[in-house]
Amino acid sequence: MAYNPFLNFCQVLDRAARIVGMESSEYEILKHPERELKVALPIRMDDGKLEVFEGYRVQHSSQRGPCKGGVRFHPDVNIDEVKALAAWMTFKCAIVNIPYGGGKGGIKVDPSALSAGELERLTRRYTAQILPIIGPQQDIPAPDVGTNAQTMDWMMDTYSMMKGYAVPGVVTGKHIEIGGSLGRTEATGRGIMIITRLAAESHGLSAPAVAIQGAGNVGSISAKLISEVLGFKVVAISDVSGGIYKASGLDIPEILKFIGGKRLLKDYDAAEVRHITNEELLTSEADILIPAALENQITADIAAKLKAKIVIEAANGPTSADADEILSERGIEVYPDILSNAGGVVVSYFEWAQNLQSLYWEEADINRMLEKVMVRSYADVEKCSSEYGVSLRLGAYITALKRLTGAAKLRGIFP
Ligand code: GLU
Repeated sequence: MAYNPFLNFCQVLDRAARIVGMESSEYEILKHPERELKVALPIRMDDGKLEVFEGYRVQHSSQRGPCKGGVRFHPDVNIDEVKALAAWMTFKCAIVNIPYGGGKGGIKVDPSALSAGELERLTRRYTAQILPIIGPQQDIPAPDVGTNAQTMDWMMDTYSMMKGYAVPGVVTGKHIEIGGSLGRTEATGRGIMIITRLAAESHGLSAPAVAIQGAGNVGSISAKLISEVLGFKVVAISDVSGGIYKASGLDIPEILKFIGGKRLLKDYDAAEVRHITNEELLTSEADILIPAALENQITADIAAKLKAKIVIEAANGPTSADADEILSERGIEVYPDILSNAGGVVVSYFEWAQNLQSLYWEEADINRMLEKVMVRSYADVEKCSSEYGVSLRLGAYITALKRLTGAAKLRGIFP
């Protein structure tokens, strides 16, 4: 059967509910997104031809606040993926205890194949099509795979033009000049760095070797902060073209400069650096593995061969359900995505709060508040998983499930 991330989510949810003895009627609603919108996006291409793209926005839950979550531009975007990503956002926001539900959007497109003009027209048309269901009190998009601050600027402008006044709080992850927050670009990577530090501490590793899959926003900033702030050696990193490995530690600043110049790692060359495949990266000789690319990367096959003692999920859904079981049998500890990569949405929340009050904060304050939220959330998840004697993933799901069903009980069912 084809991999279906939403079914994967529902299965973990059922397991978490069973452990706490919850009736299915108490959480059944979480298996059904509140709203699913599919849109057709006709775009005039640069050569004059018309092309129609497919887009989505799914609002999984608004139980604890407005829906919140990114917009993905990728050729593999489909409804089951967007539904899973939206549900994970609901759980992520509940774990870090910020007043949001979860949502996610996407367009089935390879953004690197479009010109800047085509990309702008596509983004604006998408925004116009989902406009009736987004807004600072309703649903707040942000960047995800294949989108960035520029995408958010176009979305903010399109929404604002339709309203007739500037509405910076409709999206997060914008450029600073139009209401973005200091620290937002680095936030997911900074959160990963904090969880990596806590994980190393709890396993008594003072100088672990780290392998990172992916060198997009999250992978590259995680690599930078883990080497620069924690002083851990990053022994492997990869991009779409493949990976590189060096047992004594890679020169991360040099590699990031190389990648920043829009070059691929397959063309990178330095003394003692070995080129490796994606599978070799995932199973490389390292203490900590950080998958920071896409879903379903650590499959059962990879899980059986993994050498790391710790996996920190920077991507959303990188570990398949059967791989998760193998890792747990092998005593490899997984720090789940919905905890580990929550730094992005936490600083999105700070950005939105600044937009709503038109009062802007300093970067040092933002980083300090992010640190506090990550440390507290990790402690909550840790406590819950030891209380029930389960994995950190189940501990994270249970923590979120309790907060979500608690909120639902207080609100009651309308009408
Ligand atoms: N796309 C990011 C995530 O998956 C950030 C979402 C946000 O900031 O709303 O967590």
